[in-house]
Amino acid sequence: MFNLILFGAPGSGKGTQSPMLVEKYGLVHISTGDLFRSEIKNQTPLGLEAKSYMDKGALVPDSVTIGMLASKVERHPDATGFIFDGFPRTVAQCEALDQMLAEKGAAIDLLLELEVADDILLGRLLKRGETSQRSDDQDVSIIKNRLQTYHEQTTLVGGYYAKLDKAHKVNGVGEINEVFTRICKVINTVNV
Ligand code: AMP
Repeated sequence: MFNLILFGAPGSGKGTQSPMLVEKYGLVHISTGDLFRSEIKNQTPLGLEAKSYMDKGALVPDSVTIGMLASKVERHPDATGFIFDGFPRTVAQCEALDQMLAEKGAAIDLLLELEVADDILLGRLLKRGETSQRSDDQDVSIIKNRLQTYHEQTTLVGGYYAKLDKAHKVNGVGEINEVFTRICKVINTVNV
């Protein structure tokens, strides 16, 4: 198996790069943000609970998020690997993910962080908000909360995998294909 965490702040390009990586490496893409949005669309109890946090730009509690992610992973018993996008976002989620993969005799092979400065992220998210249905991309104060949450809580995830010598950073600014090439270079050095 090859398991990748595509890491980076909201707007750093994870959702843009993921389909290209799926096609090249044949991995299963799991985005917890997409899963929550689908639960909200289907008006499930989980979706209703998640929405109250997402509307503020805060993290959905670990107990909800980890269970949802685990059941999605279980639906792909034959996967040759996963791209985790938007997960893990807390150290508790890292520990749960490591345990989940260990039970399959696997592990996270690489955390790849897309580095983009906050002012560029803000511009990208507002632009995305003009065309997406995402209300959390349309309000500057919600976007700022999401970026603050990222810097205060989620960056710890980078540190967690850096300690395991699995974290790499890539410049996330540039043409989509340019960034993709940078990402593939790192993957190819790890996934041999
Ligand atoms: P995203 O699409 O990854 O930007 O996620 C949108 C929102 O969903 C976030 O602002 C959080 O409220 C929630 N969310 C997504 N993934 C997670 C996660 N791993 N842990 C907690 N909340 C999450």
